[in-house]
Amino acid sequence: MTDTSAGVLVVGAGPTGLALGCELARRGIAVRVVDGRDGPHGESRGKTLNAAGLAVLEQLGVADRIRAVGNPELVFRKYFDGEHIDDTVVPGTLFIGQWQIEDVLRRRLAELGGSVEWGARVAGIAQDAQGVTATLPDGRTIRAEWLAGCDGGGSTVRRLLGIPFEGYTDEGQSMVVGDVRAPGLSRGFWHQWFTSDGGAMMLCPIPGTDVFQLQSSPETDTEGRTLPPSAEGFRRLFDRHARMPGIRPVDPSWMSTWRVNVRMAGRLREGRAFLAGDAAHVHPIAGGLGMNTGLQDAAALARALGGETTPDVYESERLAAAAHLLADSTERMRRVVTATRTPGTGTEAGLG
Ligand SMILES: Cc1cc2nc3c(=O)[nH]c(=O)nc-3n(C[C@H](O)[C@H](O)[C@H](O)COP(=O)(O)OP(=O)(O)OC[C@H]3O[C@@H](n4cnc5c(N)ncnc54)[C@H](O)[C@@H]3O)c2cc1C
Repeated sequence: MTDTSAGVLVVGAGPTGLALGCELARRGIAVRVVDGRDGPHGESRGKTLNAAGLAVLEQLGVADRIRAVGNPELVFRKYFDGEHIDDTVVPGTLFIGQWQIEDVLRRRLAELGGSVEWGARVAGIAQDAQGVTATLPDGRTIRAEWLAGCDGGGSTVRRLLGIPFEGYTDEGQSMVVGDVRAPGLSRGFWHQWFTSDGGAMMLCPIPGTDVFQLQSSPETDTEGRTLPPSAEGFRRLFDRHARMPGIRPVDPSWMSTWRVNVRMAGRLREGRAFLAGDAAHVHPIAGGLGMNTGLQDAAALARALGGETTPDVYESERLAAAAHLLADSTERMRRVVTATRTPGTGTEAGLG
């Protein structure tokens, strides 16, 4: 069965796809947003908004709602070998969980007359001169004039379009990440514990919740291979780095492994289909630029599809931005790694 209602089909309802959906709906362009998940996630992931990301949200009319949830005054508390060394206030960044941003954007999309269609994983794409036909695994198809692949770093759209994802994966650098509670740990600080053997553990409070985002050097096996995250592993890592008897990370609601990938799409357009967000670029998280850049991609693509610029302008502008992002975040990562070896300094080395 073919459904022909969309001017633009947005594939993926992460921050990029939701912002694009809102931007298009705001311009009166018929848009459908589909996502392969069964429903929204509750993972903290991208937790910092910078001025550029907030500017996109401002334009969408949701910056005040985001500010009402986020924390603009988080103090970075640095420890070295278990000893509290320094507190730093870093202005210009709003801390907020990614699921909280997505929640605000989904509500904005609903106000603009749209919604997310869950359980709709795009598995095939065909194009002709008039439009794009996306196929779902159950055989249903969606016909649209344009398609935007906002389906994350492992993008199916990118693969289906045959667009290369050039760059490298640094197997030597990885982190376990997750969302945990840590009863008894003060919530006014982004706790950053570093050790003289190069280890790191960070717990960042997610505002309006009792959850912290945990990021840590991983446990490894005898061959030095990263072990998958687990509740027990999080506790062992916390004891090793934080050395705070009586405090434990508990109740993980999200656990994942993150590896340094530095890759970008060879092009952002194939006929009537585009790439944006992590589907177009992945890079080190130092500086917290990924989601912020995806929001800017979304705004630029909406300008192109809305006729204020052109698809060619979108591609050349955002390819240049992606190339800069990869180099910039790699350099920020180098600064952060160096900072973590110096007592009293931490992730603020990647900001600004
Ligand atoms: C620990 C951690 C910390 C981070 N910190 C920051 C930070 O501080 N600041 C920052 O800016 N960024 C940060 N990031 C990066 C940020 O999370 C990503 O850049 C951001 O999620 C990218 O958004 P996106 O919408 O492009 O992709 P995603 O968020 O990956 O969304 C893609 C969506 O597409 C859907 N999808 C996938 N395939 C299909 C398909 N075939 N059909 C339909 N739907 C599909 C998925 O279900 C998903 O909902 C961090 C990431 C991690 C893991």
